[in-house]
Amino acid sequence: MGNEQGITPRAEDFSAWYNDVIMRAELADHSPVRGCMVIRPHGYAIWELMQGALDDRFKQTGHKNAYFPLFIPQSFLAKEAEHVEGFAPQTAVVTQGGGKELEEPLVVRPTSETIIYAMLAKWIQSYRDLPVLLNQWANIVRWEMRTRLFLRTTEFLWQEGHTAHATQQEAEEETQLILRLYRSFMEEWMALPVLTGVKTESEKFAGAVRTYACEGLMQDNKSLQTGTSHYLGQNFAKAFDTQYQTQNGELEYVWSTSWGVSTRLVGGLIMAHSDDVGLVCPPRLAPVQVVIVPIWKSDAERDTVLAVARGMLEQLREAGLRVELDDREGMKPGAKYYEWEGRGVPVRLEVGPRDVKREQAMLARRTGGKTPVPGSGLRRAGEAGRARWPQELLTAALARREENSLRGVTKEQLVELMNGRGGFAYGGYCGDEACEEAIKQETKATIRVLPDEEFRTDPGPSECVWCGKKAVTEAVWARAY
Ligand SMILES: [Zn+2]
Repeated sequence: MGNEQGITPRAEDFSAWYNDVIMRAELADHSPVRGCMVIRPHGYAIWELMQGALDDRFKQTGHKNAYFPLFIPQSFLAKEAEHVEGFAPQTAVVTQGGGKELEEPLVVRPTSETIIYAMLAKWIQSYRDLPVLLNQWANIVRWEMRTRLFLRTTEFLWQEGHTAHATQQEAEEETQLILRLYRSFMEEWMALPVLTGVKTESEKFAGAVRTYACEGLMQDNKSLQTGTSHYLGQNFAKAFDTQYQTQNGELEYVWSTSWGVSTRLVGGLIMAHSDDVGLVCPPRLAPVQVVIVPIWKSDAERDTVLAVARGMLEQLREAGLRVELDDREGMKPGAKYYEWEGRGVPVRLEVGPRDVKREQAMLARRTGGKTPVPGSGLRRAGEAGRARWPQELLTAALARREENSLRGVTKEQLVELMNGRGGFAYGGYCGDEACEEAIKQETKATIRVLPDEEFRTDPGPSECVWCGKKAVTEAVWARAY
């Protein structure tokens, strides 16, 4: 934790800075239960805005919300071999209920594929029942040893999409559709540029055929996996005997996908944009987008200034913005500025007696700069601002990512970079897991993705960065959360 006044600078200790930003913005707190966090109202409001935007997109693409139980029979997990191997060490298991030993222990859901497939087996009979496009908003429990607020906690909130299709092609297309949906949400709402691509075997979801992911570069040059979309093939369908009758009357297993993002996104948002003053929140996800701070010395000034400030509040709300008027008594304007800056409010309007005379307000942006704005045109300015805001943070984040990406790295560069300043390192990969593992041992860096075409270097690398043999693909390495 930093001192009473401030926040540990990023350059000094990034991890302490991250915690200080969260505490000062009152986004979350540690709970009496080890590894579990309390999401405070300001942090939860950001999550709700994320939920709203994503939920709209899911529904626009034909998905429907449903809810499945928190408890999963332990035997269900064992039905898919890779799945149980991947998740068993992390599960919390209930063995007693109502004071009695349970006949079968219940796992607190670490993810819901198994219980959902058990139900789909019952609901899906023929090709007419397909596709099934489901989403669930829920909490998840994975027993974590080393936890960090929002990034890795024993219990967290997420959405998990689960779809079943008649053909392999449809399922593959769904996986890609969701990957694009996630990416556009992250760019447009979080102002976070992300790389997309496929994970290697060692990094994929337990039980998936292929895992696709979005990866964002944080300000400490570590990568954060912000979302995943899994193509499951027929793995779960076979484990749960989820078959359908084709148009020709034959029985076939369904093809399926699952995909998710979690409250980890709030952590990503913090680490992507915030500064040494506190939270910087992209405007579309800011619970308060504009705060109006009236300034007065005498009672007479107070009445005049407040009347004008209320008019401004009205105008900006009409412009569709989330606005607060901070008319608290007995608190200096400077103290109010400090508080709202720490909470990441994108724009502050200061209105004092002199501004009232000039029919203006002083507009201070959270990312810097102060300009007078005419009081009468606030509504239009607010509307224009809504269109312009997100782009600026995204541009800055994109520039930062590109500055910290190195293409065509040699073995020496990869080692130096990953043990030094970090960032994204693009290089050739032979496809041999031994190389992947050796790099991990030497540098703690992992292959984040085998990048999608638009992110690839042209011409691509010809040799594996580690062994020098022929490269079968380009890979992006980084240390990661
Ligand atoms: Zn190699």
